[in-house]
Amino acid sequence: MEPRRDVSRIGWCMARPKELRDPTVLLCERCGYDLTGTPRESACGECGIAVKESLPERRMGTPFQKKPGVMSFVYTMWLVARRPRAVWDDVRIESNRSLVFGVVCMTIAGLVIWAGLGFTSIGKDLRSAYFAFALLFVIFTSLVIMTTIEFLGLQLIGRKNGWRVTSRISQTVCGHACVGWIVAGVLVAIGWQLGARLPAAPLTNQVPNWMNPILTSLQFTLPAAGFFIGMMVFETLAYMGVRRLRWGNG
Ligand SMILES: [Zn+2]
Repeated sequence: MEPRRDVSRIGWCMARPKELRDPTVLLCERCGYDLTGTPRESACGECGIAVKESLPERRMGTPFQKKPGVMSFVYTMWLVARRPRAVWDDVRIESNRSLVFGVVCMTIAGLVIWAGLGFTSIGKDLRSAYFAFALLFVIFTSLVIMTTIEFLGLQLIGRKNGWRVTSRISQTVCGHACVGWIVAGVLVAIGWQLGARLPAAPLTNQVPNWMNPILTSLQFTLPAAGFFIGMMVFETLAYMGVRRLRWGNG
């Protein structure tokens, strides 16, 4: 048996030696211990969990990763929202299908935000084809930029903590966390609709004068608050994912 490289003393807050960031080295997914040479039937020498718990073939993949389609998309979305821990245990570390999943989530979020805004009195101009396209483009591009920042950020957090967050792991995590953008989209749409139903300027005689600025600002703060909550869902999912996959074996 090849001698084990003991990585447990390297510490949690400094970068690992290059070979331990090699994505082909089998690491214990719980503690990051190098399992090279450890028999598959035995346990991690550091934390004691079974080696087979860290084998990449143990990860079955999300329904969308197994068979991309409408139904598997909906089912995966539901799983990410309801049982994120189980998803991060089971997700396969790969980039293509996770990317497609994320892009579809962002497109749906964009459509929901557009519909929520377009079908209010404030946004009726946005129903024209030109504005609808422009608005969708702006929303979609903003979500892509924020997701890309997260994709780079998770790898940076990984390097700072001495984890092995490869670009593929980060893409897997960010792609699935994009379910948070759908939550943001739905809450923004609800915010627009609620905001549009508040008594507006022409109805000033119905409310005391001092309430007008509050009601007008609520028309914008409600959707903004909705977006913020959705963004926190995205961030939380991404953080849970990177914690679980910080030594993931692809
Ligand atoms: Zn271990």
